[in-house]
Amino acid sequence: MREVFTQEWVKIIASDRAGGVSADAYESLNLGFHVGDKPLNVEKNREIFASYFDVSVKELCFMEQIHGSLATMAKKEQTLKTDALITQEKNLVLCVMVADCVPVILYDNDKKAAAAVHAGRKGIFSDIISNTVLAMKNSFKSSSKDIGAYIGVSIRSCCYEIQGEILNEAKDRFSYALSGKEGRHFLSLQTIVKKQLHENGVVNIIDENVCSCCDKNYFSYRREGVCGRFAVGVKIV
Ligand SMILES: [Zn+2]
Repeated sequence: MREVFTQEWVKIIASDRAGGVSADAYESLNLGFHVGDKPLNVEKNREIFASYFDVSVKELCFMEQIHGSLATMAKKEQTLKTDALITQEKNLVLCVMVADCVPVILYDNDKKAAAAVHAGRKGIFSDIISNTVLAMKNSFKSSSKDIGAYIGVSIRSCCYEIQGEILNEAKDRFSYALSGKEGRHFLSLQTIVKKQLHENGVVNIIDENVCSCCDKNYFSYRREGVCGRFAVGVKIV
C-alpha cells in the first residue's frame, strides 16, 4: 500500500498484493468480490484498504466495472455499474480495481473534485477518458488547466501483445502507440491515455511507469489468469 499523491485537499493511495488475508491465487490483498475469492476475506481486505484512508469500509465507493465508456456521479454505499466515478463529496473514497487495466485518477485543484477511471483497452478505445473529463466539466464546471491526472500500475507495452481485430483497430486509430518486435505487436495503453488527456487539455500527468505483468508485487490477469485485484483510491479530504 502506498500513498502515491497527497495534497492538502486530496489523497491518492494505491494497493499492491501485499498486506491482506486472502490465500492462493488471491494472495493476499485481493479487493475484488467477483474473482472467486472467499467473500469474508475480501471484506477484511477492503477494511484494511479503508483504514489507509482513515475511513470505514462504507465510505469506499467501488464500481461494478463493465468495460463501458460512461462516467457516473458516485453515491455512498452504492456499487454503480459504470467505469468512472466522479465526486465533489468529502471523505468518500472513489476506487478503481484492476489487474492489468489502467487505473486513472483525475483531480481538479480548483473545484476540489475527483474521478476514478477504469480504463481498460475497451474503455480507452471508446473514449472513457474524454467522457470523464467532460463529466467533470459538466458537473463541477472544471477547467482542463486545473485537472491533474495519475496513471497507476497497469500492463505496459513490454507485455501487452495484441493481434487480430484489436490489432487492426489499433493500426487504424492508435498507430502512434504500437511497437513491434519479431513480427509481434505491442500496444501502449498509457500512451493512448496520455494523448487523450492532452487532447482534453489535461497536461499535468503523473505516470507510475510500472508494469503489472512484469512486477509480481501486483496482480496480473495476463500473467496469472485467475487472480485478485488491486486498487487505486482517491479521497477528497
Ligand atoms: Zn511488462
